[in-house]
This record gives sequence, structure tokens and C-alpha cells, in this order.
Amino acid sequence: MKSAFVSHLEEILEKDPAVIYLLDRDLRIVYCNEAWDRFAAENGGRGLSRQLQLGRSVMDAVPLPLKPFFEDGYRRALCGRQSWEHCYECSSPTVYRNFRMMSRLDPEGEALVVVNSITVERPHDDRERTVCFPKESVWADNHDFVTMCCHCRRTCRSKQPPIWDWVPAYIEKPPGLVSHGICAPCRALYYPEFA
Ligand SMILES: [Zn+2]
Repeated sequence: MKSAFVSHLEEILEKDPAVIYLLDRDLRIVYCNEAWDRFAAENGGRGLSRQLQLGRSVMDAVPLPLKPFFEDGYRRALCGRQSWEHCYECSSPTVYRNFRMMSRLDPEGEALVVVNSITVERPHDDRERTVCFPKESVWADNHDFVTMCCHCRRTCRSKQPPIWDWVPAYIEKPPGLVSHGICAPCRALYYPEFA
């Protein structure tokens, strides 16, 4: 039985463009957002619809050599008050992709929220471009302000609906004009009283 808070969290996360899922304390999938189905459909995984994932262990999808690593990371996030972050590659035959995963226990300690932000996306044969985001104008508004989440440091695209990207270049050197915001997952996880 889900708590009211987790049900509320699912509503918040449903339309988020990042692939987000929730795990229970046994690492079973209890929720996947809409982006899960979109990603599966775009990558030939129609048989992997989110409905079919519910109740399954997330560890079933982890390759055998990586199981200890993921199990340890998820368990640490479930036990402690710290998030667990990990970068990984998930490419298709035609597209090279990297993601950054953030796993964080919800404030009521019921579900582990796993947010997957894309960091690189490019065709395999495009040797020149290393980052998927072509122009800085993707993030800067009309006044050249760039909005970054004050918690996870992802950057929000200037057009609606809000899409939050992990931009390594901005972590190394913040853009000139930064306005601080807070992305929906961070708001729900870290500042639930404002969610
Ligand atoms: Zn955030």
C-alpha cells in the first residue's frame, strides 16, 4: 500500500522527461514514469513497457558482473541519507548515449527514487560532436540567464516544458549569469514541504 506522499511523488514525476523509477526496500520496481515507455518504444523495447516492470527486481536488468556494484549503491542510498550517483552508457546500435543516475530515498523512507538524466547523445559515426546539446541557447533565456537546480546542479532548458540536463561544462565552470531554481525531483525529495 503506497503512502499518500509516494502517490503524490508519482504525480510529480509522471511527466518529467527524464526516465524515473521508484524502488521499494527489496529493490522491486513499484513505479516507472511515462518517459520509461517513450524510451523503450524509441529503442525497440516495446515488450518492456512499464506495466510489465512493476513488481520485478531492478537487479534482474543488471548484467551479472555489475550486480554487486549496483546492489551496493542502491543499498547505500536506501540506508543512508545520502544520494548515490553513477554515470553509465546506454547506447543503441545507431546512437551513443551516456546517462547520469541519481538515487535518493524519499523523505518518508518508503521508496528509492532513481532519476536518469541524459548527458551525451550523438550518432556513432559523428566523431566531431561530443555533447548532444548543440547550442548554449538551449539553456539561456532572452536575458542570457541560465537556470540551474540549486540542489543537483542540473540545468533547465529555456523552453517549456522544463527539461533538466546534466551539463558537465557548467559544473566545471558555471555560466556567466545563473539564476537558481529547483527541479521537480529535487523539490519533491529534499523540500517536500514545498512540493
Ligand atoms: Zn535538482
